[in-house]
Amino acid sequence: MESTTVPVVVGIDNGGTSNNATVLTLDGRFLVDRLVETPSEVRSGPAAAVEAMARSFDGVLALTGLARGQVRAVGLDTPGPASATGVISSKGSTNFSQPAWRGYDIRGALEHRLGLPVVYHNDGNAAALYAHHGYFGADAMNRSSVAAIVGTGLGGGLVENGRVIAGAAGMAGELGHVHIPLSAVLEAGQPVPSCACGFAGDAESVASLTAIERNLLPYWLTRFPEHPLAGEPPARAAKLVRGYGERGDELAREIFAQQARALGALFTVAANFTDPHAYFVGGGVVETAPEFRDWFLATVREHTMLRAEQAALATFALVPDRDMAGARGVALAALEAVRAQPAPPPLVGD
Ligand SMILES: [Zn+2]
Repeated sequence: MESTTVPVVVGIDNGGTSNNATVLTLDGRFLVDRLVETPSEVRSGPAAAVEAMARSFDGVLALTGLARGQVRAVGLDTPGPASATGVISSKGSTNFSQPAWRGYDIRGALEHRLGLPVVYHNDGNAAALYAHHGYFGADAMNRSSVAAIVGTGLGGGLVENGRVIAGAAGMAGELGHVHIPLSAVLEAGQPVPSCACGFAGDAESVASLTAIERNLLPYWLTRFPEHPLAGEPPARAAKLVRGYGERGDELAREIFAQQARALGALFTVAANFTDPHAYFVGGGVVETAPEFRDWFLATVREHTMLRAEQAALATFALVPDRDMAGARGVALAALEAVRAQPAPPPLVGD
């Protein structure tokens, strides 16, 4: 933990149980090298949650010995779905289940509470931004990347010239709900997997924890009926698959090979859509034993169909510091907003 008198930005990662906060100086140094967590209270509704974010903000300043007057802007990320400006979906979401959250402007509320500009991204986009800047460093503003984060769902984002592609409605980079060619992923006779979003055969319907529980494990247990996971309740069994995979279990490796092939198919879409410099993979699936992690990333790469020109310059890498990626990613977004020049005038006037 390091103190400073220079201007800073603060990043707050809002999760289902905790907020994690970090501090970044305007010259690009993180002053916190670990999680700084406090309760998020999102289940108590918006008013309690905004106060909890303010406590997280005050707490990380106290910890780093900084004065509030040194803070130029704040970055905030939450799980989606939310708009590009931080309005929670009108349908609510897993973390924001209380009715008062529907259509709630969480970014605006925090900005009002703190009296500081607040920049918002969803958690997948924040992690993508951190992966991008962490990997490319000084070259980050001239590079592009795609990041796929495998968790309960499949999150991630697209970064172009160092900035997240948010989209008109804030829904760009929803990688989980991109359809992929199933012929490259499924076994003959395997049922078409379904996603909670209503699509069949999108990337999340294969490459997520939810997909293991509802699609992959039920199928693979018909092929391995004597497997010990057949005796476990489905939700618990799905979480146990990773441990089996690390130990080399055949059923688990089949499941993770399908997830890796699905990510390869998704990255093949990205290669033809935005042609990024880097392809990042993150989430629980890479927070594993090195042998398993390396095998998984190699399998993703093997199933990403790049043209020779692309293969010559593309890189594949893991998203580092997964637990800190959200707070660090939005701190970088806040820093970029502070540094950004005013937009140029339109080329064609009225
Ligand atoms: Zn979907």
